[in-house]
Amino acid sequence: MGEPPLGENRHAHRPRPLSRRPGRDRPFDRTLSGSPGGIEVMNEVILAKKAGFCPGVKRAVELALKAREENEGPVYLYGELAHNRSLIEHLSEKGLTTVDDWRNLAPSTILIRSHGLAPSEKKQLLESGWKVIDATCPCVSRIHDHAKRLHEEGFPLAVIGEVDHPEVQGFLKGDYGEARVFADPDGISGLPKLGVVVQSTFSPEKAGAIIGRLFLETRELRAFQTLCGATAERIKAALQLASEVDMMVVVGGAKSSNTRQLTEACRGTVPVYQIESVEDIQEDWLKGLKRIGVAAGASTPEWLIQQTIQFIAKMTP
Ligand code: SF4
Repeated sequence: MGEPPLGENRHAHRPRPLSRRPGRDRPFDRTLSGSPGGIEVMNEVILAKKAGFCPGVKRAVELALKAREENEGPVYLYGELAHNRSLIEHLSEKGLTTVDDWRNLAPSTILIRSHGLAPSEKKQLLESGWKVIDATCPCVSRIHDHAKRLHEEGFPLAVIGEVDHPEVQGFLKGDYGEARVFADPDGISGLPKLGVVVQSTFSPEKAGAIIGRLFLETRELRAFQTLCGATAERIKAALQLASEVDMMVVVGGAKSSNTRQLTEACRGTVPVYQIESVEDIQEDWLKGLKRIGVAAGASTPEWLIQQTIQFIAKMTP
């Protein structure tokens, strides 16, 4: 038997095929016969218009698989390619090893993930004899370009984002001077001059609040709006869907920033549950509901989305 293509999980649950119903956005319906009173019950599981892999993660996964095919010897992924356990396991089965550090390894092939890397560290890798496959998302590369320009023009760099996020870490290795990170507006006061970029997947609302505060507290401020459209598109689609269904299920890694944002955005509209896999779904959640919406973060593979849709369709009464 051949290898499953990207997007198909070899351990996938395979229920009977579900019918599509025209007139809705990517719906998956299930018709139950023999339900109480002999009445036919129709339930819908509807996927948000934008869900799953963003272009940056899709490209990184494709480059990783290609690198494995084309190179002899170990091929390492420098850090988790995306914050999704199922994806990491899939890549590991393909012979791609995720590592947290390369310094104690014999030079071979290594892939920089979509979150990017400090330019100085990429240079170290090359100088140490590594073959580097750079899968930095073009959106993140643009943020580095802005940071470089701000540094050259004499603006001390500030990154609005989460200090532990791998994308943000790429700005904190001294390539653009000593950068500072702001994750909330509290404590910002009396700054002389600042050049600002924003973590691509950071919350737009929080970023706006921090920028507002920086504007009031900094004598000279230059800021680039570097939020990624892919996250915003997924939030918009999830919110639209949440207004049409009884409940939302958000599929994605617990550590995935954009998945968390989807969940937060949907809260307050309908009940919303964030899951990593179908094992997290509880039957109680679905009782008495007719229409269930599914959204997925930018790091969630298609096979997990399809498993979720089919699993819920099987569970709904
Ligand atoms: S979320 Fe945006 S910036 Fe991040 S990898 Fe995807 S496309 Fe690139």
